[in-house]
Amino acid sequence: MSERIYFDWNATTPLREEARRAIVNALDLPGNASSVHAEGREARKWIEAARAAVAKAVGALPRDVIFTSGGTEANALALAPNLRRGAGPAAERLVISAIEHASVLAGGRFSRERIETVRVTPAGVVDLDHLRELLRGRPPALVSVMLANNETGAIQPVAEAAEIVHATGGLLHVDAVQAFGKISFDMGECGADLLTLSAHKIGGPKGVGALVLSEGLTGPEPLLRGGGQELSRRAGTENVAGIAGFGAAAAAAMAALPAETSRLHGLQRRLEDGLRLTPGVIVFSDAIRRLPNTTLFTVPGLSAETAVIGFDLAGIAVSSGSACSSGKVQPSHVLEAMGFDPEIAQGAVRLSMGWSTQDADVDRCLEAWRKLEGRLLKDQRRNTA
Ligand code: PLP
Repeated sequence: MSERIYFDWNATTPLREEARRAIVNALDLPGNASSVHAEGREARKWIEAARAAVAKAVGALPRDVIFTSGGTEANALALAPNLRRGAGPAAERLVISAIEHASVLAGGRFSRERIETVRVTPAGVVDLDHLRELLRGRPPALVSVMLANNETGAIQPVAEAAEIVHATGGLLHVDAVQAFGKISFDMGECGADLLTLSAHKIGGPKGVGALVLSEGLTGPEPLLRGGGQELSRRAGTENVAGIAGFGAAAAAAMAALPAETSRLHGLQRRLEDGLRLTPGVIVFSDAIRRLPNTTLFTVPGLSAETAVIGFDLAGIAVSSGSACSSGKVQPSHVLEAMGFDPEIAQGAVRLSMGWSTQDADVDRCLEAWRKLEGRLLKDQRRNTA
């Protein structure tokens, strides 16, 4: 069997060599980072080096980085009703975009009746007029808008959203999990008051992430209490090896930008030019700015579930745009929010690339698709005849 090809980088990435080395070395540290002896201080040094690397990557201060168990926990921590800046009022309601990750849709610590949803346009970007409408003349809100969508790759107008939110006295949380390491940005540019990151989407280990606060924000009440770690904002002995791996991956990812962004754009063009040879193909959000590594596509009548299996048998790992963490395929809430019929939404296949993807991998993926499309779409046409 020829080598397998991985086209599911938005689900998770392979570990970067730099991260692996940092993790292996940090695993041998005997000390607890809270201990005052030399062993403890050595562990602390590794954590603080990683904190500095993550802070630098997004233009924040190291003390404003709170390490968590991943993006999900960072989102859950961020969405808290007691947040405020300076002497400003606390944001007592939550407004989220309709295309957020499930960990934001869950609403954190806001009760259901305090959560409202902003629409997205058919192209898959947050409808800023609707956001204005939801905020105008109402008590300040915490608003959560992702920087890039994990299914379509659509880049969201977070800086414009920030202006609207701040003008009404509210705060903006940005889930930057998918944008991190793929496009250049910093917290100031985004206007984010809080920013979520995850290590395993940038070549770091799974199970580590961070919530980054902007300067002067009175942070969220901790989710985990009972220890002074992370300046009492997240109790529990630190995952030193995971955090060290995160820091190393962040530094490596930043060193590769922006050359990697433009290289991925080239691969994306090659991939989508090839896909467009199929009559009727839809590439979602293709009229707007997208992540350079993400292509979500379908052809009317395609079953994503069958296509994913077909690709897998051909040695290529892809995902269905609508896959959820339970493994069951459900219509994508993102495509539904964009106004697509459930039949189209259930046919979306996501191809996502990363730093080891080469032209030859794209060509092999297209070759596999050529063989599959004939079979899958013929079966479908026969069934509907
Ligand atoms: N936010 C977005 C946009 C994501 O794509 C993901 C993971 O798929 C998460 C949050 C959750 O991150 P983690 O897997 O680190 O919990």
